[in-house]
Amino acid sequence: MPMFVDPSPPGQCIFCRLVAGEIPAAIVHQDDLSIAFMDIGQVTPGHVLVATRRHAATLLDISAEEAAAVMQTARRVAQAAQAAFDPEGLTILQANGAVGGQTVSHFHLHVVPRHTGDGITFTWPRQ
Ligand code: C5P
Repeated sequence: MPMFVDPSPPGQCIFCRLVAGEIPAAIVHQDDLSIAFMDIGQVTPGHVLVATRRHAATLLDISAEEAAAVMQTARRVAQAAQAAFDPEGLTILQANGAVGGQTVSHFHLHVVPRHTGDGITFTWPRQ
């Protein structure tokens, strides 16, 4: 039972439109099951979102294959971020449902490069 149901019709949510190429995005990776693109609201330089290609609202709605593909893509993104931004660490965040801080109801995780003193404090839902 999904914990959160996206009110958007399938195929019309903002990340579905991004996957379809209907809205612009800085895509850094895509394969049959996952897509990675720069977050338009960069928490730190190199902040990337990794999403399923298929519309699925939350972790409870994705398949085992999609979960594996998203995590493999996140690993690749982390390697690229390491090379490009030389972070001291990375924070991976993933929200499910409005109460969990999810604002786009299409499964995605955040890969956020971190540096000492970057001043980032995460509170979810974000403020
Ligand atoms: O975890 P949450 O659902 O809040 O994350 C949604 C993210 O989608 C936000 O960080 C927002 O900046 C990002 N976004 C984006 N491109 C859009 C719309 C939202 O990168 N066109």
